[in-house]
Amino acid sequence: MTQPLYVQRRISDGITLIQEPGVANFMRCNIWFIEGRDCDLVIDTGMGLSPLKSFLSQAREKPIKAIVTHCHFDHSGGLHEFDCRLGHRSEAAILRAPTASNVVYDGDWPKIEIVDRRVHPGFDPETYAITPAPLTGYLDEGDVIDLGNRAFQILHLPGHSPGSIGLWDRKAATLFSGDAIYDGALLDNLYHSNPEIYRLTLERLMTLGLERIHAGHFPSFGCTRLDALAQDYLAGRNTIVDVTTWYDAQIKLTPDLFADQDWHGVTYD
Ligand SMILES: [Zn+2]
Ligand SMILES: [Zn+2]
Repeated sequence: MTQPLYVQRRISDGITLIQEPGVANFMRCNIWFIEGRDCDLVIDTGMGLSPLKSFLSQAREKPIKAIVTHCHFDHSGGLHEFDCRLGHRSEAAILRAPTASNVVYDGDWPKIEIVDRRVHPGFDPETYAITPAPLTGYLDEGDVIDLGNRAFQILHLPGHSPGSIGLWDRKAATLFSGDAIYDGALLDNLYHSNPEIYRLTLERLMTLGLERIHAGHFPSFGCTRLDALAQDYLAGRNTIVDVTTWYDAQIKLTPDLFADQDWHGVTYD
């Protein structure tokens, strides 16, 4: 059976989670699609291994704003496909001129098995590169993205990277958090990470009265788990210290994860 390149699952009213099954579960970015009255949003764009926009446009005809929570390769790969590309100013130069090192696909990362060659037989870690995607607009703390029927306040959440942002639906007490927090080991030792600032971001997240966090990786979670994850980090645990050791502890490629009938996939010829 051919593995689909993208799969999607409706999470709640107007919110759909899209993922790339050909990316290993421990690196697979959550791509969030939000249907709005006036326009739609896509939050993060995966590794860019196959066309994303045409997949999103199949069911909708509204304009799409693409927002990148930060520049890392697992989030910014498909950004170039979209006409409207929004993100934080401090990572604009990287998105304009991505290199293996500035999108953190360097060091030990290309050595670990991230892409399933059964799904992407042409993938080569030596030549994999992010297509430049200059931002068409900047988002910063306090900006509002209004879709007509729901609105998101932008939170600047630095630490993992300098320009990490989150989208806060205050009314729904929901945050799309990117990699500022997810239900897994956090990364604060990348070239542009800042652990001191990361602490402040996590402390702040615990004060927002959040009930639902839709993160950049792994399943969504609620406030109790948010507190536990943040407290763990603040106590000096829950970080990836060494990529190779961390990788060895992961459950490796799990293509059958998406056999679940809740997921609807597409394949391209
Ligand atoms: Zn990241
Ligand atoms: Zn990530």
